[in-house]
Amino acid sequence: MLYHGRLLTNLRKHKMGIGNPMCRFCHDEIESEIHVLRDCPKATWRDFWATACHAIWNWRNKETHNDNYQRPLHAKNIIMSYVNYYHNVLAKSVIVISQPRHLEEVGWKEPLIAWVKINTNEACKDGSIAGCGGLRVRLTLLFFRSKGHF
Ligand SMILES: [Zn+2]
Repeated sequence: MLYHGRLLTNLRKHKMGIGNPMCRFCHDEIESEIHVLRDCPKATWRDFWATACHAIWNWRNKETHNDNYQRPLHAKNIIMSYVNYYHNVLAKSVIVISQPRHLEEVGWKEPLIAWVKINTNEACKDGSIAGCGGLRVRLTLLFFRSKGHF
């Protein structure tokens, strides 16, 4: 029905002249197919889907890289236990709405006179020698100041 666009959502019924297109649970969201199946809080299967995909991928990788690994026999039960654990953690989580922010500008600062500054980003490849990205010398100004004293 979804593939053929025949899911009888409130939006579809509204287009047929029947009722209002809004979700009866969310009130401020239009009940489209994507809302019913993915976005509506009543679409609880999405947690199961995401967890199942992660578990199946994880088990597949373990099978690929470990000849002795055996996939769980009761995969659905294992996945459901992961989903229940996720829901329990979610219920106990404290959501911090806002925190005071402290912004600090981070950037290159010109070195003092007569100092040499070398910037590096700690990048290296396979443990070899690291490169550097900048070299700034403030000796020129020192030279002109010294010249004035002669
Ligand atoms: Zn909804």
